Amino acid sequence: MANSEGRTELEELGEFGLIQHLAKHVEIKNKSTALGIGDDAALINPGKKQLVLTTDMLVEGVHFDLTYTPLKHLGYKAVVVNISDVCAMNATSSQITVSIALSNRFSLEAIEELYAGIMLACKNYNVDLVGGDTTSSLSGLIISVTATGFADKKDMVLRSTAKEHDLMCVTGDLGGAYMGLQLLEREKTVFQADENMQPDLEGNDYILERQLKPEARTDIIKLFKELKVKPTSMIDISDGLSSEALHICHSSDVGCNIYEEKIPLDHQTIQMAHEFKIDPSICALSGGEDYELLFTVNQKDHDKIKGNPNITIIGHITSKAEGCQLIGKGDVVHELTAQGWDSLLKKN
Ligand code: ADP
Ligand code: MG
Repeated sequence: MANSEGRTELEELGEFGLIQHLAKHVEIKNKSTALGIGDDAALINPGKKQLVLTTDMLVEGVHFDLTYTPLKHLGYKAVVVNISDVCAMNATSSQITVSIALSNRFSLEAIEELYAGIMLACKNYNVDLVGGDTTSSLSGLIISVTATGFADKKDMVLRSTAKEHDLMCVTGDLGGAYMGLQLLEREKTVFQADENMQPDLEGNDYILERQLKPEARTDIIKLFKELKVKPTSMIDISDGLSSEALHICHSSDVGCNIYEEKIPLDHQTIQMAHEFKIDPSICALSGGEDYELLFTVNQKDHDKIKGNPNITIIGHITSKAEGCQLIGKGDVVHELTAQGWDSLLKKN
């Protein structure tokens, strides 16, 4: 099928041929998957659990740039961002559907790469691919993933239930994905100006991986069960710490104090931020795509999470009247604002 350049045109297979080809590699791992790919719809059996359902769409040129994003990584990330949303409900993900819109710019081999990433994420997170849709696109690639998850009703955690005096915590470290993106964008510009210039990405594996191959914190959901901690509220950090903290506070009708010096940052993030002359805290507060969890816990659970290397306490919940505040270095108080990364890019 493949021509001398190892490229198989999608029109040789047609839509059904492509779906059949992709479905060959799919195996079902979860009991709750009663029927997978092949019929008009999949069948899912939630048993007595609450069903969690979430979807996320990634659009070429808006959410990813194929000049530096390998298709395998893109497939992996498209799944992970959904699993991260399921985690943020304190649930475990079980099934996904994947819908793709493609132009004839993509060969079968390219789609196989994308699906290699999707299937790797399914394997790593014990999730079944149970369906999707395949259609054509006149411009770029669009990939939309829907994920299910299950949890006991009593374990569900919403954004809207944080209480005054709760501790505010984050997992992992923040700002890395944003600095990884800045680095990739810089090297792309250099390469576009002079094609003989090879990208200089040495020594920055961590922040590049944070951008290109993020992971969802399913380990933290397990940890909560082990520690017998149920967060009082939770959200995943896809748009920067400020924006997510404001979501929790607005939904819960409370305020918060976040201490800038407590925000966890990796040394590679700090180093790259200095190189770009950006304040590292700003990367954490306004950068995106870290896919860590921001959550609140009752103070009585402090001993259970204290000293855990995966969790950092960055502040606490206050009354709504006190507002949402960032306590900076030297105790300077700023109002927490969600800048998002657009404004961040404009400033620099
Ligand atoms: P329908 O015409 O009923 O929408 P399709 O021909 O689109 O059916 O799909 C046939 C089967 O293949 C369904 O089970 C569907 O969920 C699955 N499927 C279609 N596209 C994809 C895809 N890109 N990835 C995974 N499964 C897919
Ligand atoms: Mg269809």
